[in-house]
Amino acid sequence: MAEAVLEIHAVTKRFGEFAAVDGVSFSVERGTIHAVIGPNGAGKSTLLNLLAGELPASLGRMVFRGQDITEATADRRSRLGIGRTYQSPNTFPGLTCAECLWLAVQSRSPMRFFGSPPNEARVESALQSCGLLARAASPAQELSYGEQRQLEMGMVLALEPSLLLLDEPLAGLGHDEALELVDLLRKIARKRTLVLVEHDMDAVFALADAVTVLVGGRVLVTGTPGEIRNSAEVRDVYLGEELS
Ligand code: ADP
Ligand code: MG
Repeated sequence: MAEAVLEIHAVTKRFGEFAAVDGVSFSVERGTIHAVIGPNGAGKSTLLNLLAGELPASLGRMVFRGQDITEATADRRSRLGIGRTYQSPNTFPGLTCAECLWLAVQSRSPMRFFGSPPNEARVESALQSCGLLARAASPAQELSYGEQRQLEMGMVLALEPSLLLLDEPLAGLGHDEALELVDLLRKIARKRTLVLVEHDMDAVFALADAVTVLVGGRVLVTGTPGEIRNSAEVRDVYLGEELS
């Protein structure tokens, strides 16, 4: 039976008088990729910030695996198993891939305050999980943009999240890099639940199990990719854009 990992109940975020996210409700089922799409300024990144606990909600309620997290800090949510990536990749440019991943692995270790030696096996498995084994010794700043995204993904995965919030992971990638990341996302999704904010419609329709369309901070519709593709309302919003 479908089980909601994340329930979003009438969540609102106001900046002054302006509601960037306005009474948003939807549920994310365990083991699915739930895409959130919508025009620029629709409130997608703000919604991810609310879900990650980086911004407090003005109104509404968020429930993660049955637990009310509305008031939980970002750190608490991360410890509960919510990971996130940003619109521009967040790594340590001066460090190698292995070092970045070591730091990420270490941040979850109960021994982190005692200078325990690096856990080579976990770093290697993290390198493998983001497809950067061959780049272990390369400084993050020398990576291609696509590889930086992979590294950021690896750093988040090292925290062993069960729910991953991704903000436009394909933005700025070339065609081949995007295909590679779509593959990686598919692999990542085998064992996790993903909320995927994405502009690339081909990727959304290829990956998503469910799609929520945000417009002006509100949910226009939530449905299967097929329902979204065939929705006249959605077509109106994306007028001029190709919904292939
Ligand atoms: P999206 O990610 O869908 O493009 P955002 O969530 O970034 O949209 O932004 C939604 C709206 O909220 C935009 O109009 C943006 O200008 C506004 N906004 C976002 N963050 C802030 C903020 N910190 N203060 C004021 N307005 C903001
Ligand atoms: Mg955004």
